[in-house]
Amino acid sequence: MAKSSTTRRLIAASAAATALCLGVTGCSRPINGTPIASGSPAADTVAGLPVSDGPSGLKPGADPAELPVEGGTDGDVDRLAVDTVADVQQYWRQAYPKTFDKGRFRPVSRLVSYDSGGQGGRLCGRNTSGMVNAFYCPEQDTIAWDRGRLLPELRNTFGPMAPVTVLAHEMGHAVQHRAGLLDGDTPPLVVEQQADCLTGSFFRHVAEGSAEHIRVSTGDGLNSVLGVLSYIRDAPGETGFADPSAHGSAFDRISAFQYGFNDGPKRCTEMTASSVLERTTQFRFWKKAQESDLPIDEDSIERVERSLRRVFADTGVAPPRISIERGACQDGTSTEPATYCAETNTVSLDRKRLEEMATPPRGGDEPSGYGDFAAYAQVASRYVLAVQRAAGLRLTGDAAGLRTACLVGAWSGLLVEDPIGRRNPVGKLRLAPGDIDEGVAALLDENGLIAADVRGEQVSAGFARVEAFRLGFRQGITPCASEYHS
Ligand SMILES: [Zn+2]
Repeated sequence: MAKSSTTRRLIAASAAATALCLGVTGCSRPINGTPIASGSPAADTVAGLPVSDGPSGLKPGADPAELPVEGGTDGDVDRLAVDTVADVQQYWRQAYPKTFDKGRFRPVSRLVSYDSGGQGGRLCGRNTSGMVNAFYCPEQDTIAWDRGRLLPELRNTFGPMAPVTVLAHEMGHAVQHRAGLLDGDTPPLVVEQQADCLTGSFFRHVAEGSAEHIRVSTGDGLNSVLGVLSYIRDAPGETGFADPSAHGSAFDRISAFQYGFNDGPKRCTEMTASSVLERTTQFRFWKKAQESDLPIDEDSIERVERSLRRVFADTGVAPPRISIERGACQDGTSTEPATYCAETNTVSLDRKRLEEMATPPRGGDEPSGYGDFAAYAQVASRYVLAVQRAAGLRLTGDAAGLRTACLVGAWSGLLVEDPIGRRNPVGKLRLAPGDIDEGVAALLDENGLIAADVRGEQVSAGFARVEAFRLGFRQGITPCASEYHS
């Protein structure tokens, strides 16, 4: 996120488009663009499975998989990695022949664990020293991972499902090569989308309890998988999983994952360059560089507040006061890192918690979050409760949580400038491409407020959270009330 270098005029058309539709019956949802994922996901089920927040990670009592790993250690991360690869391969042993008509699945030839902080050595034509990464290299049919930094850091931020997600995705590339899904002309975005889709089909198998070593809950477990997908990106054969330069926004990645999760791996083979390009939001993100994060200080909070006032000016909301002092409401309600009190129409902030949320993931045990936009989106999530209140809508329950995500999405969408500056009527604040991915990762975090009601109760199903945020991002404020009512 960055300060805008020029002040932009408020554009009348954008302002008109931001009027919140108050009634339920009077609103119709505009049909534009192409459908996203499969239907509008429910708040309490995930592709037909009930949402629950049970344990995720290694199944207790399962015997460790025995696969040869070059450089492997007895450490937790390597154990998780090897058990993951074993489960993914077990899954493809049964799914591959049914899906691709290419005979039996052949396990990956070589597994390598390395420490990017070590002396390094040659692997697939690269030096592993300093390579904070995990990748599949087709030339040597090898899956490799950095046990020193990448996998432990991701695990610290996103939980035990993070290394599983990364390795299942890399195994997806191995499957693509085996099944002949790629040719020299396949665009990188399609390659990545297909690997995410194949990852989704594996996670369906895990969510149904069918994997030998790994389990995932359909609530916070699966949400952490989607969070990882939102946050990190790769370019196959070139840079690997941790490189932020490559392909697909968080929306694109979660859609692709959802196709595989809902519909199975056959669906992934139907992803073509034209179908992917039609759906993706990537084209909006014209800027390559990641912007640096803004500090959480009074100046930036004020920018955020101004942008919120502008975006929601025409909704009839009496703008809440934003206080940078922690506070609880008279009735005792207090949510972290920000609280909305309806009686006083105040949003009070816990600056320390916001700062943690604005800190990108790092090694060690210190608390960290996703970046500055992730923190500002928390502030916005409480502000839009005032917008809902002004519209006479309930502030509690799943519908309130989904409307909140949708309205935060709408605010975010108006902070994006396109190359000729037609959007972003908001002046002093603009989004960099990575900001939306930060926002989606924070949306999926078990501690966030972006899809939470006034009490801080989150909507359980991650797919539903993302869909609501995306709806607002793409279509603005209008559909938020009509789509989510109760
Ligand atoms: Zn990839």
